Amino acid sequence: MNTTFRWGLIGASTIAREWMIDAIRSTGGDVVSVMSSDPDRASAYADANRIPHATTSLDELLDRVDAVYVSTTNELHHDQVLRSARAGRHVLCEKPLALTISEARGMVEACRAAGVVLGTNHHLRNAGTHRAMREAIGAGRIGRPLFARVFHAVYLPTHLQGWRLTNPGAGAGVILDITVHDADTLRFVLADDPVEVTAMSQSAGLSQGEVEDGAMGAIRFSSGVLAQFHDAFTTAHARTGFEVHGTDGSLIGTDCMTQRAVGDVLLRTASGEELLPIDRTNLYERSVARFTAAVAGDADPAATGDDGVWSLAVAAAALESARTSRAVAIDPVQPNSPKVSQ
Ligand code: NDP
Repeated sequence: MNTTFRWGLIGASTIAREWMIDAIRSTGGDVVSVMSSDPDRASAYADANRIPHATTSLDELLDRVDAVYVSTTNELHHDQVLRSARAGRHVLCEKPLALTISEARGMVEACRAAGVVLGTNHHLRNAGTHRAMREAIGAGRIGRPLFARVFHAVYLPTHLQGWRLTNPGAGAGVILDITVHDADTLRFVLADDPVEVTAMSQSAGLSQGEVEDGAMGAIRFSSGVLAQFHDAFTTAHARTGFEVHGTDGSLIGTDCMTQRAVGDVLLRTASGEELLPIDRTNLYERSVARFTAAVAGDADPAATGDDGVWSLAVAAAALESARTSRAVAIDPVQPNSPKVSQ
């Protein structure tokens, strides 16, 4: 009997081609099918990536697999996840889970009802840098955390300059693309939940129409920590980073808001400075490994469906705040709180 875990790719996407196919294969899984809306793109993608089956039919793909990886544009995730769950397939879905909180919540509920695992592919939780910072905070090495700063302003690579800049219906904009990651990483590193967000956005000419290509804002966490974020598609020369400043020390992560297992974390206290040891495991491999362990009942996915609802709740609140010039509340207990406008 073939016991290899069989994956189907929903979406002939760049992220699957650049990272996830390799991550699935290197963690012992098999990519057995790819679904695209276009038959020619499906076959070309399957050939280029050595995938034995290509289809435009979701049902045909679901018939062949144990789990799906959903990396279509954001407006399609909801329906594709619901259909996968109803077919009894485990689901690793890209962020943002959906375009509205109620849809994301429905995805979590559908997977729970079907008894399948739902993971959100928030890769940054799997970075050794962020795990080292979470551990150091948990061990009390900076005392009580007071502030965090996230530097996630990048230049959107030209091969990704499509729907993210032009198509609000697909969930375009830097807030749904990058601020969701900041929100998840902050929750993970601080082991705390956000309660309120205030944000401003910018459209500097790379994006079109109402779509924002830059944002800055602040998030208040339930412990009182204030976290500042700076996200952009437009800055080619800024460095990324993630800092947490506490009563007894500071953690300064550099070059760590990235897909690659790079970056450093400096701990600075009254005793001096030290670089924390960092695990350099590939972020996406760890995401897939944690997901398959969850399917086997050994762990939770690195980021659960509920985590994906929380990060979307922060992004939705940031969008609302930028639109209305007001602070927007997030319920700290229920990520699906109706207080967050959609
Ligand atoms: P892509 O634009 O590469 O792919 C999205 C969809 O666009 C595909 O499903 C495909 O549709 C269509 N498409 C792709 N290439 C072409 C083409 N040449 N011509 C026409 N249509 C094309 O998106 P990304 O891979 O950048 O993002 C996909 C999802 O993954 C998003 O939800 C995004 O937020 C998320 N993401 C997550 C990252 C992470 O690190 N967690 C990083 C990057 C993205 P079809 O399937 O119908 O062929």
